[in-house]
Amino acid sequence: MDEFDGLKEECGLFGIWGHPEASELTYIAMHSLQHRGQQGAGIVSSSGDYLFGARGMGLLTEALSKEQLDSLKPFPHAIGHTRYASSGGSELSNVQPFLFKSHKGDLALAHNGNLVNAMNLRRALEDQGAIFQTTSDSEVLAHLLRRERGGGEESFEGRKKRIKKVLKQVKGAFAFMIMHQDSLTVALDDHGVRPLMLGKKDGSYCVASETCAFTAIGAEYIRDIEAGEMITITDEGIDFDHYTDTTSPHMCSMEYIYFARADSEFRRTSTYRIRKELGRSLAEEMQGIDADIVIGVPDSSLAAAHGFSEASGIKQEQGLLKNRYVGRTFITPGQEARERAVRMKLSPVRDIVEGRRVIVIDDSIVRGTTSRFIVKALKKAGAKEVHMGVSSPPLKNPCYYGIDVSTHAEIIASTKSPEEIRDEIGADSLTYLSVDKMHDVYHSFGSKGQCDACFTGNYPIDIEEAILPQEKDLKQKGV
Ligand code: AMP
Ligand code: SF4
Repeated sequence: MDEFDGLKEECGLFGIWGHPEASELTYIAMHSLQHRGQQGAGIVSSSGDYLFGARGMGLLTEALSKEQLDSLKPFPHAIGHTRYASSGGSELSNVQPFLFKSHKGDLALAHNGNLVNAMNLRRALEDQGAIFQTTSDSEVLAHLLRRERGGGEESFEGRKKRIKKVLKQVKGAFAFMIMHQDSLTVALDDHGVRPLMLGKKDGSYCVASETCAFTAIGAEYIRDIEAGEMITITDEGIDFDHYTDTTSPHMCSMEYIYFARADSEFRRTSTYRIRKELGRSLAEEMQGIDADIVIGVPDSSLAAAHGFSEASGIKQEQGLLKNRYVGRTFITPGQEARERAVRMKLSPVRDIVEGRRVIVIDDSIVRGTTSRFIVKALKKAGAKEVHMGVSSPPLKNPCYYGIDVSTHAEIIASTKSPEEIRDEIGADSLTYLSVDKMHDVYHSFGSKGQCDACFTGNYPIDIEEAILPQEKDLKQKGV
């Protein structure tokens, strides 16, 4: 399912350098990245001498007015950010890009991901006299950048050296865009957890979290930016570099499973095709189950259901419909509200499911709210049997790299076995994809390495500094 009030996705980045329509293109590109964050959006543009910003809360159409956009139109360089609060609160001051003014020049910053040592860095900076305007961990980078000295203050190489030094101090998952009046630097953490892509539009370089942003503006997709890479774009051209040579690629597996848009490509393979393969593999695990139809939970699981259907020979039907007009539901948080939100978004097609044995494919189970509702609704609509297939392994652990599930308590599979979950959601059977089969699919698409920590607990980046005190308590109690 999408846009559910469960665990939330992170942010969308887009930037373009040296294009007469930079801010308009950024606005269009950000629309296609709206699925990566709906809490706020902003654009910062550079005239070459100064930076100018506009930002607001909510969906892009609500966040930025025509007047704001018009004010940025004359400028040839722009970066944009769509935000979901994976760290920091959801007030306007936390909406990015952040824009800082100083006598040394302007600086703008946009970040996708989560820094695991942000808390400690922030404390150290505060002890040295820094005052923070936001509760976002991304602001830490701006303070570090401002403080860094040496390397030849004003030269291009000097600035690069300082940025490299700072990037080495931050730990965690990050795709950063750092804009000065005369340059745009983008960098990806040494594990390459979050996606970042390089493109070109009418001869101007652009970067985006996903290639669907390039499609939206008619840009060419050049390549995926690699772990530890740092790219600087100026009027003189593009500079490819690495801030570190010690890298260990661990791209987020959930990007393929759920987050990314189905038409976005990773290493030239669409998310749709990857999800289809995950569905095919799941079909192998569910060979023993007889059913009349297979249905996918719209929209993110339709590709997996398609693959499942192709591999099993069981006909795919649209047995669940999604109401596309339910956006954010302004209802109070809590379990009852979550259930109501799912009911508002999904409904079964009685005529399709009545009297039939149904296999339902969903891409993931987090709290179990969606599956519980779906099984109940399908049975109420007359389904004879409901078998649940999940095109990812049991999600058991919180993510510290930018996905908003911070405690084990929120995650059903962290305390319950698949059989207990099956019982709780009321399905006739429940099958997850195995971790090995998931990796086999990724390898077949040329993955250089995947993070699977939310499934296996093997965190590729040390999380000790990021663990909340209450999580530590639970860990000690063995929960
Ligand atoms: P839950 O109902 O809590 O078990 O959440 C599972 C549902 O949320 C599935 O339908 C997923 O497609 C969807 N989902 C998975 N990850 C996310 C996410 N990060 N943000 C929003 N929805 C998600
Ligand atoms: Fe992605 Fe899971 Fe790793 Fe977080 S823990 S980065 S959601 S694979």
